[in-house]
Amino acid sequence: MSSERILEKLTASDEELTRHLEDAELPALLLACAMLTRDPAVLDGAPPPLRGLMAGPNGGYEEAQLADARARCLAALKRYRDDGCPEPTRPSQEDLRRLLSFVIEEERLDEFLPFLLDELSLDGSDTRAPKWKKSELAPDRDFRVAIIGAGMSGLCAAIRLQQAEIPFVIFEKSHDVGGTWHDNVYPGCRVDVSNHFYSYSFAQAFEWPQLFSTQPVLLEYFQHVADAFGLREHIRFGTEVKRATFDESTGGWCLEFESHDGSTDTFDAQILVSGMGQLNRPRMPEIEGMDDFEGPAFHSARWDQSVDLAGKRVSVIGTGASACQLIPIVADQAGELTVYQRTAPWLLPTEDYHEEVPGGLQWLYKHVPFYAEWYRFWLFWSTAEGLLETVEVDPDWTERKDSVGPLNEEVRQMLCGYLQEATGGDAELLAKMTPDYPPFSKRFVRDNGILPATFARDDVALETAGIDRMTAKGIRTKDGREIEADVIVYGTGFTASDFLMPLEVVGREGRKLHEHWAGDARAYMGITLPHFPNLFLLYGPNTNIVVNGSIIFFTECEVDYLLASIETLLRAGKSAMDCKLEVHDEYNARIDADNTKRAWGAASVNSWYKNQLGRVSQNWPHGLLEYWKQTREMDVADYELL
Ligand code: NAP
Repeated sequence: MSSERILEKLTASDEELTRHLEDAELPALLLACAMLTRDPAVLDGAPPPLRGLMAGPNGGYEEAQLADARARCLAALKRYRDDGCPEPTRPSQEDLRRLLSFVIEEERLDEFLPFLLDELSLDGSDTRAPKWKKSELAPDRDFRVAIIGAGMSGLCAAIRLQQAEIPFVIFEKSHDVGGTWHDNVYPGCRVDVSNHFYSYSFAQAFEWPQLFSTQPVLLEYFQHVADAFGLREHIRFGTEVKRATFDESTGGWCLEFESHDGSTDTFDAQILVSGMGQLNRPRMPEIEGMDDFEGPAFHSARWDQSVDLAGKRVSVIGTGASACQLIPIVADQAGELTVYQRTAPWLLPTEDYHEEVPGGLQWLYKHVPFYAEWYRFWLFWSTAEGLLETVEVDPDWTERKDSVGPLNEEVRQMLCGYLQEATGGDAELLAKMTPDYPPFSKRFVRDNGILPATFARDDVALETAGIDRMTAKGIRTKDGREIEADVIVYGTGFTASDFLMPLEVVGREGRKLHEHWAGDARAYMGITLPHFPNLFLLYGPNTNIVVNGSIIFFTECEVDYLLASIETLLRAGKSAMDCKLEVHDEYNARIDADNTKRAWGAASVNSWYKNQLGRVSQNWPHGLLEYWKQTREMDVADYELL
């Protein structure tokens, strides 16, 4: 599998072209057309697009601008067709610079150019693949890597190691790949970042049926990647690593693992990579009487497929991203549904959340060279900083407690306007659904109108009185009512800040990782940490994003850093690298300080972004460029080489 698509010759009539263009995302298509025709005039005087989640895929174009952009694209595509679809030529750096200046301010171009070209990869090549192989650097060296987890991160690491000819084994406790997309099978589960971006940069040849695809499609994608890259033969399924101990004498790790049949064994590796994720250990709430409930009760991430909800009285606890996806579907199946909400989520209006990829867009991917690449690039660029400026804390902001600055307030008002409209004049529902904390201090929930409409149904109740306790028959609210239920679903999230639990990790001088962290997990760039040489974390502390980018982008950066580190060890003929304490501490102090300037750090609202000590242990406070820059090269001075 690669990013190359099979293109078909463009022979469509003018009418067909016009029709397909109705579905085009125009800033991306303008760029593709300018490149295809090698005619910069396609862009001359074209409306400069705005970027950001709010501007949408059409760059905030108004009707007249949309019409202008479509006319330019139509003329260019007709010319391309009438010239017999000539083989496109590769643009020079200078051409690309000119094209990119259409979407990037001139003064930022130099800073962003290498980063963007890396991501754009117009010739379908895998620009980020390692440029070295073990056979060239250390052919005789016994050097292998153990990866824990065959989810999105573990698979990515495996692919890069394979390209560098480094032997590796993946330990996966489930019986298939996919990680979170394997475990979460609750009804309505889907991705909330556009698929063309929530996918590996180097594995793009996959036809997404929807803009935000459902869990079975995501699982199929990761299965497809595992097959296409021949990874399955390297995966030990049904095997859980219980303990990993650093061996001072070899500078490597000894893993103790248990298979599903109860047998145990060990495995030695020079490098240990955790692809264990953040959102995979269900958090069960501490509610009195939970064991008293007599009916089936399960967590959203452990969906019990044997329980038929048809006609039942179902209670769902929680209104986070998982619960909000399953609530509308459960409402359709159940006889009655009660949703227990502790904190209302901010809804991010997303009209096309459940839509198919429009036919015209599919057609353009297949017939217009470079459009798919520019389309993904535009998604990437629009979200590189995303809504970051709207979460900036203004220290002088005293207007309100439920916003952190003027731009955050603007967004708050916009989101309130959406809620007002979506609740259709139901004042009681509007009051219940309006959050009292700043937007984006918790993860938003995408909505196309379905959630307010579900809560407005006669057979659905949104309970906000609070839960007092569970009983044999249901749930007692804090105002003394007992609401009976046949089934209870916990949409109560994950113990995200308990990184690497329940694995026991023992580093230098017998230091135990979880005692060392003492509930406050930290790492240098989210990847390495002192006293635990050759341990690399993927999706580790402070690498989660809230209003920009995609986790897959971060994983790719972390894996680039992993490979650069291995290259350093092989070139230096060293066994291990241990992050220097002062480097780690200085980095973390900076991240902590920067997170306090973001809504999620400043607001007192409860969220999974904070650990038990109240520190934001999950989130990255900046844009994508900053993370790419810091992981792009490995600075050996940050480490003690052993
Ligand atoms: P979550 O955001 O942590 O939500 C948990 C929900 O349970 C919250 O509404 C929480 O209320 C509630 N809750 C917890 N304990 C409770 C208690 N004792 N009583 C009442 N309510 C309680 O977890 P999640 O919904 O599983 O989502 C986690 C993250 O996973 C998301 O933010 C997102 O990043 C990711 N995710 C993504 C997708 C997607 O891409 N489509 C889908 C699902 C999840 P409080 O808010 O008051 O704590």
